[in-house]
Amino acid sequence: MKKTLVAMMAALLCISLFAGCGGSAQEPAAAQENAGKEETENAAEENAGESEALADGILKVGTNAEFPPFEYVGDNGEPDGFDIALIKEIGKKLGVEVQVENMEFDALVASIGKKVDVAIAGMTVTDERKKTVDFSNPYYMAVQYVILPEGSGIAGAEDLSGKKIGVQLGTTGDFIAEEIENAEVSQYNKALDAVNDLINGRLDCVIVDKNPALVFETRFEGQVKAVDGDNFGFEPEEYAISLPKGDTVLAEKINAALQEMMEDGTFDALVAEYIEES
Ligand code: GLN
Repeated sequence: MKKTLVAMMAALLCISLFAGCGGSAQEPAAAQENAGKEETENAAEENAGESEALADGILKVGTNAEFPPFEYVGDNGEPDGFDIALIKEIGKKLGVEVQVENMEFDALVASIGKKVDVAIAGMTVTDERKKTVDFSNPYYMAVQYVILPEGSGIAGAEDLSGKKIGVQLGTTGDFIAEEIENAEVSQYNKALDAVNDLINGRLDCVIVDKNPALVFETRFEGQVKAVDGDNFGFEPEEYAISLPKGDTVLAEKINAALQEMMEDGTFDALVAEYIEES
């Protein structure tokens, strides 16, 4: 907003300066007028290229650092992970400072355009969320997995009915579980807490995204196994960055940065570092 005003004032100043100094015979009035018009048009073009979210030079990013390997709290106590590295690279390309804010997953969508500019959190593109936010182009394919205790007899969709299912609140796993017949769904703020309850025998299974499920399987080796949701008829999902509704300039810039990273190998390097290593 501020930037817009400054640009407008600068344009006005240019016009008045031009008009003020151009009264001589060498500068026909029509030329002055045209030059003035050009300045105004340039300024308008610049304004049209502005993103509200980027205007202060800071990209405030919401995440929920409970979703390894996409986001977790690093050794230094700060959010880290694939998504965090990705958005920092995007910030560099956009020439803005990236500030990451850790919050509950369920609060992210409502915070966009208010507390934060955008959110990156292994967030699946859904029609419901699209009513509130826009999404960047997708950057990762996922599917829900089912985490089971070792020796569980659950193997397919029909085995899930009537079961005690743990999910992370407000996630696509939560939405799937709510559709399962007679299921007793427990919603957690952290998927890890659900997995702990599974290990303690309080749940029959946990439904969570593929990559975190694989991380938990490794972390609790011998206690749980992660099963591909494809066996349960779960649909593939796409992760994207959620953006303030209508900020098309921001969307274009983020999509261009993503595209560049996919073409120049930076994206694959991050996949190798954060996802394949996990
Ligand atoms: N992909 C899931 C969703 O968007 C879960 C994301 C998460 O827990 N961070 O709902």
